Amino acid sequence: MARHVVLDEECCIGCGTCAELCPDVFEMDAEAEKARVIRSEGGDEECIEDAITSCPSECISLGGLMQKKSS
Ligand code: SF4
Repeated sequence: MARHVVLDEECCIGCGTCAELCPDVFEMDAEAEKARVIRSEGGDEECIEDAITSCPSECISLGGLMQKKSS
C-alpha cells in the first residue's frame, strides 16, 4: 500500500517548485510547461509534503491508500 501522488496538470502554472523540491517524484515537461508525476507511488514523504505546501496553485495532493486488487 502506498499513498498516491496526484497532480492536476490543468491547474499547474509551471513554476517548477515541485520538481525542484522533489525531483524523484516530479519533473517538468518543458514543452507543455507543466509539471508531471514520474513516480505516482510516491517517494520521500517529507519532500512530497513540502511540494504540496509549496505549490502556489495547490495542484498537488495525496490520494488515498492504493491497494492492489487481489484478483
Ligand atoms: S509547484 Fe504546483 S504550479 Fe508549480 S510546477 Fe509544481 S504543480 Fe505546477
